[in-house]
Amino acid sequence: MRHVTLSSGQKMPVLGQGTWGFGERGKDRAEEVAALRAGIDLGLTLIDTAEMYGEGGAEEIVGEAIAGRRDEVFLVSKVYPHNASRKGAIAACERSLKRLGTDRIDVYLLHWRGGEKLVDTIAAFETLRRDGKIGSYGVSNFDSDDMEELWRVSGGSATTTNQVLYNLTRRGVEWDLLPWCREHGVPIMAYSPIEQARMLGSSELKKLAEKRGVTAAQLALAWLLHQDGVIAIPKAGRVDHLRENAAALTITVTKDDLAALDHAFPPPKKRKPLEML
Ligand code: NAP
Repeated sequence: MRHVTLSSGQKMPVLGQGTWGFGERGKDRAEEVAALRAGIDLGLTLIDTAEMYGEGGAEEIVGEAIAGRRDEVFLVSKVYPHNASRKGAIAACERSLKRLGTDRIDVYLLHWRGGEKLVDTIAAFETLRRDGKIGSYGVSNFDSDDMEELWRVSGGSATTTNQVLYNLTRRGVEWDLLPWCREHGVPIMAYSPIEQARMLGSSELKKLAEKRGVTAAQLALAWLLHQDGVIAIPKAGRVDHLRENAAALTITVTKDDLAALDHAFPPPKKRKPLEML
């Protein structure tokens, strides 16, 4: 597995597994645990979760999947904005740790900007880091003006990643957010990297993928992974999807592929506010 080195020195795998939608139905539990374990076996050791997913249910699934193999995985979880106060974020993290069955989260993110002051959230994150409960902290759904503001807060520039919506059909971040993050050494975690499977129906994408002898999902992931400072976290409950996604790492994206993809999915021509799912 390839890695990016975060400003904290941590090595984050560039391709991982999302967990949104896991932990919502008890009857799917065993299947979801098995999928995560199969993903880890395939080398997809970065796991992205959040206290929001299944209201703690997804973190419990992750906890069960990584039991006995915590050291193999790189764990990312997120705090709800309404829990992100000085005291609230610490209590929320403790609850997440319990559900995850571990004593540390590798990177802990603010899920999106809410009513709490950034200075308070960062102060809580600093305390968690000092106490060894998290390896580092980051944000999610932060646009470039949010990042500027964050950088002015004490401890804000220790943020190690920004998790945002980014895929071939959502390229707005390329205008200013991605360049800003690159300049400041903040890798982006691209969420919904295959647009929740909606982009797989694109005839242009299918045609280009077929020409390369890969699947549409693989080409979409390889395009993200080709870029500096971009990490992708597709979610897959099916083992054949996991296998397919893991193999995206072996695909070399050529200049011709890039040109054809730019033609089919044009880069932004002006600034657009960051989109969210
Ligand atoms: P996604 O990863 O773009 O798409 C997931 C969907 O694609 C699932 O229905 C999955 O089906 C299907 N799929 C996966 N691999 C496939 C393949 N090779 N071929 C065909 N279909 C495939 O969407 P997402 O779940 O929204 O995003 C990924 C993760 O990002 C989330 O799970 C979550 O961890 C994170 N996220 C974060 C935020 C945020 O605000 N920070 C927002 C959204 C998402 P199966 O499950 O049936 O395999």
